[in-house]
Amino acid sequence: MSTTTLERPAQKDRSQLRQKAMIADHYSRLAQGPESGERCVYTFVPGNLTELVRSFGLLPVLPEINALQSAMRGKSKEYIAIAEKAGHSEDVCTYVKCDYGMMKAGNVGPTGERLPQPDLLLLSYTGCFTFMKWFEILREEYAAPTVMLHVPYQAGGRVTPAMRDYVVAQLREKVIPALEQVSGRKYDEDRLKECLARSARAEDDLVAVLESAKHRPSPIDAYFGGVYYVGPIFSAFRGTEDACLYYQELREEVEERVRLGLGPITPDGQLTRERFRLVVEGPPNWTHFHEFWRLFADEGAVVVASTYTKVGGVYDTGFRHDPEHPLETLADYCMGCYTNLNLPSRVELISRYVTDYEADGLLIHSIKSCNSFSAGQLAMLREIEQRCGKPGGFIESDLVDPRYFSPANVRNRLESYFQMLDQRRAASEPMAVPA
Ligand code: SF4
Repeated sequence: MSTTTLERPAQKDRSQLRQKAMIADHYSRLAQGPESGERCVYTFVPGNLTELVRSFGLLPVLPEINALQSAMRGKSKEYIAIAEKAGHSEDVCTYVKCDYGMMKAGNVGPTGERLPQPDLLLLSYTGCFTFMKWFEILREEYAAPTVMLHVPYQAGGRVTPAMRDYVVAQLREKVIPALEQVSGRKYDEDRLKECLARSARAEDDLVAVLESAKHRPSPIDAYFGGVYYVGPIFSAFRGTEDACLYYQELREEVEERVRLGLGPITPDGQLTRERFRLVVEGPPNWTHFHEFWRLFADEGAVVVASTYTKVGGVYDTGFRHDPEHPLETLADYCMGCYTNLNLPSRVELISRYVTDYEADGLLIHSIKSCNSFSAGQLAMLREIEQRCGKPGGFIESDLVDPRYFSPANVRNRLESYFQMLDQRRAASEPMAVPA
């Protein structure tokens, strides 16, 4: 399939430039930390406590973000090899091995600057057992103090008052004292509330951006473009004024695209003909991110909703950080992240996406490394197909290990899937009756 449905973009949007500057500034502050005295907390994306961490004047470092950035810079193969040489099995999550290898190779972060050692390891989500093992490795390497927030799984499909109380008690009794100790500051609830109010503002704008994909054509790609849109809010910037400005600008840009009837921007320019609307479940591949994206864009396939953009917070079902209940809202946020939902809740959410976004089908990108996402995906696929009457597709690769991305296999599967969507569409269209 040719790329004739694409037009080259003229220049970078204001929001993109802002995000780039935010990232550069953040990593530069981290690099200067040992001299400036700014301290840092290593923590994970799902269920992160960014507002709380920042309310103590501490800077968050997200190892998964560093791993995916290493993959996008073509460094993950080397880093994974270092980890495997040190005895980490081929079956271990490749994010962990990539992070470990990066640390052993000098801990140089995504902007080429050295990352400081953690002043605290804050394990704030335990839905994936790998997270615990990951920080056990880092704890050995850095001899850093560690604090763990145990977040109960939503096995029953809802958050009960007892679950919330359990998390809040840990925040009060374990996490806040650890942050006080490492920062040398007292817990300041007013400061936390200000951060949470800014989070809610940014979350409103993010939801407006994601929901713009209900338009035809969709002005955004909610998976490949979506990973950039969720970047600030899922990582070190939630609760900052910069994040508010970023999401405000992004929303304005996307609303302008809706007004002009424009499709999404892809690696080769603007998509001018939307042929297929898809919902995608699972994280993307990072080692071949643009090549992977092109396999969709070249076919005119636009992702209108994805689950990966909910891994650091599900906001489109109504949740917003609530400054009036600061610790309770942090507890609800942690428990509400996508991979902390049970399978029936995930099926419900994805089915709603297929219907509300008028998708032609659901595509699962299954990740060899990631049990949190991959468990139950085929059962979910069958259930959603039955409920929505839309065909499902299934492709496989990995997050950051280039050995598991096979472009030919993925292309073959996608082409067959798109052909099936075409045939379904043709079969459902009314026959033309000669006059
Ligand atoms: S298995 Fe999945 S959720 Fe767990 S650390 Fe690896 S990528 Fe993250």
